[in-house]
Amino acid sequence: MKSTGDLQLLKRINRSVLLRLIRSQSDLSRARLAALSGLTKSTVSALVRELLDEHWLSEASAPVATQSMGRPSTPLNIDTQKRVLIGIEIAVDCLRLVCVSLTGAILTQTEVVLRDRQPAKACEQLAALVQLLCRQLDEKQLLLSGLGVCLPGAVDESLGLVRLAPNLGWRDVPFLSMLHAEFMRLGIAAPSIHLQNDADAAALGEYEFGGGSGDDPLIFVNCDVGVGAGIVLNDRLFTGFLGAAGEIGHSILQVDGPLCSCGRRGCAEAFIGARVLGKKPGVVQAGRYLGVVLQNLDAMFNPHVIVVGGRSCMEHPALIEIARSTQQAYASAAGLQSPEVRAARFGVQAAAVGAAALVLHQFLRPLLKESNHVSGN
Ligand SMILES: [Zn+2]
Repeated sequence: MKSTGDLQLLKRINRSVLLRLIRSQSDLSRARLAALSGLTKSTVSALVRELLDEHWLSEASAPVATQSMGRPSTPLNIDTQKRVLIGIEIAVDCLRLVCVSLTGAILTQTEVVLRDRQPAKACEQLAALVQLLCRQLDEKQLLLSGLGVCLPGAVDESLGLVRLAPNLGWRDVPFLSMLHAEFMRLGIAAPSIHLQNDADAAALGEYEFGGGSGDDPLIFVNCDVGVGAGIVLNDRLFTGFLGAAGEIGHSILQVDGPLCSCGRRGCAEAFIGARVLGKKPGVVQAGRYLGVVLQNLDAMFNPHVIVVGGRSCMEHPALIEIARSTQQAYASAAGLQSPEVRAARFGVQAAAVGAAALVLHQFLRPLLKESNHVSGN
C-alpha cells in the first residue's frame, strides 16, 4: 500500500502549496494558482474544491472580470470564519488560552491562575478549560483544526516530552501523552496536539501570522521570569539537539557576576529576568543588558527581525527602547546594519497565539517529520 501512502502525501503537499500561496497573496484565482504552483489547472480545481469544502478557503460570491481576455475569475482567500486553532501557554503562575482564526485573529482569550504546578494537576486544569472552550466552539459551529501547548522549558517535540522546565519544576515529563489521556477521558476530540517551548512558539506566531518568509530569520526574545529565544531559520524552528537552543537567559554576560537561578554566575537572567527587574538599578540597566543579548544574537544569527516580548516588556515598555538603542550603538560602532527590533505583535498573548500557530505550521509542512506530532486520527 506504499503507493497509496505516497499519493496521499503528494496530495497533502500539493494542498499545502496552494494554501501557502493563498496565505501569501490575497485574491488569487485558480488560473493564477496553477501558474504559480506549476500544478495543472485540473489538479488545482480539484484541490481548491476540497479546500473550500473543508473550510480552509473561501471564495468571493461573484466572479470578477480579469484584465486579460478569457473567463472572469473568482478570487480565493483563506477562510477566516469557520476553522479555528487553540493555543495554550502554561506560564509559571497562570494558564493563557486563546482561540484564533486561520489568519491569527484572536477570537477568544482566557487567563486563569495556575492552581498547581504539578504536571498532572496542570494537565487536568488545562484540559477542563479546553473542554469548556470546545463546547463554545460547537455552539458557534466552528471547526477545531488542532491545538498547541507551550511552556517555559526545553521540549522534545518529537517525543512530546518536557525535558526540563526549571521555573515549573518539571523534568522529563511526558506531557503530550498525559494530555492525550486526559482529553480522551473528557471526550475532547482535538485533531492534532502539539507541544513546544514558549519562546519557540512565540517566534512561530510572529512568523506565521506576521511577515512570514519575508521576516526569515526571525528571533523572538521572551522576557519573563526566565529569558529565552525562539529562532525561525530557513522556514523552520531551530530547536537544537535536545530542544534547548535559544536558552539565552543562561548565556554568560559577566564573569563572576550575580548568582542566577540555575546555579551559575553572571547569566543574562540574573540581569534581565523579571525577578531582578523590580530591584535597583532596575529597568535602564536591564535594558542595556538586553541590548547586549540582542547584539550577541545578531552576531550569531544575523537575523532579519528580532521581536522582543514577554511579561517584562508589558510591565516595562522602556525595556525594548533601551535594548534597541544599545544594540544599534554596537552595530553602528562596527559600521553594520541593525536587524529590525520590534515589540511582540500579540503582546502578552504572544506565546499562546504562537502555540496555535504550531498547528498551522505543521499542517502547511507535510514533510516535517511525521513523528513531530501525535495525530489523533
Ligand atoms: Zn543561569
